[in-house]
Amino acid sequence: MKILVAVKRVVDYNVRVRPMADETGVEISNAKMSMNPFDEIAVEEAIRLKEAGIADEVVLVSLGVSQCQETLRTGLAMGADRALHVETDVELQPLAVAGLLKAIVDRENPALVVLGKQAIDDDANQTGQMLAALLGWGQGTFACAVKIESGAAVVTREIDGGTRTVSLKLPAVITTDLRLNEPRYVKLPDIMKAKKKSIEKLAPEDFDLDITPRLQTLKVSEPPKRKAGIIVDDVNELLDKLRNEAKVI
Ligand code: AMP
Repeated sequence: MKILVAVKRVVDYNVRVRPMADETGVEISNAKMSMNPFDEIAVEEAIRLKEAGIADEVVLVSLGVSQCQETLRTGLAMGADRALHVETDVELQPLAVAGLLKAIVDRENPALVVLGKQAIDDDANQTGQMLAALLGWGQGTFACAVKIESGAAVVTREIDGGTRTVSLKLPAVITTDLRLNEPRYVKLPDIMKAKKKSIEKLAPEDFDLDITPRLQTLKVSEPPKRKAGIIVDDVNELLDKLRNEAKVI
């Protein structure tokens, strides 16, 4: 069984991003970039399925600027077998990514495609769902547990207040949630070994697809600053303020 994992290069989750002065986007020049954390979980899950003898190949795919190769190298060092890089400087929105991933799926024929539930830069939470729709495959989104048994993926999904377990006929699309696993640390020998693994370069023009952005960002702004709190002398004063100032009781 072959597993395809989509990995996106995003601004590192530790970086405190700020809107640009003209509010047209987020300031990321010179910011540290890393693999999207949910995609690290996706790579880890695929590698665990390979280590358990359920999968026999883990292929990574990343779409975007040339530096995506660094992100792919990280996934290869974690243990993936090979990678594909669709290189473009064009801003790719979820529908374009889903379209390109479908074209890659048609080429690679994986039994499972694993994506993150969302990319922490655009927070879209759309690509996995769109890909499943384009492929006509079942989808198990927000996965916190995955089991493969008799031609099906049994996916436990995080839902409000609990979990829901679904069984998906393979091939299928899975998107990962935080609790699925804890990705491994990459060790130096693995980084060295990963240098020898193949990253095949492709271009959007290799696929007959319209990837022009369909959405325009109008404004990016910070949340309003919270007002400073106050200290009240006793419960009566608190009740008075809640009743007469905040008017919440
Ligand atoms: P989004 O729908 O943008 O929140 O992204 C959800 C998931 O789709 C990510 O966690 C990735 O697995 C995948 N994805 C989105 N954009 C890309 C990209 N440019 N390259 C590879 N995978 C991507």
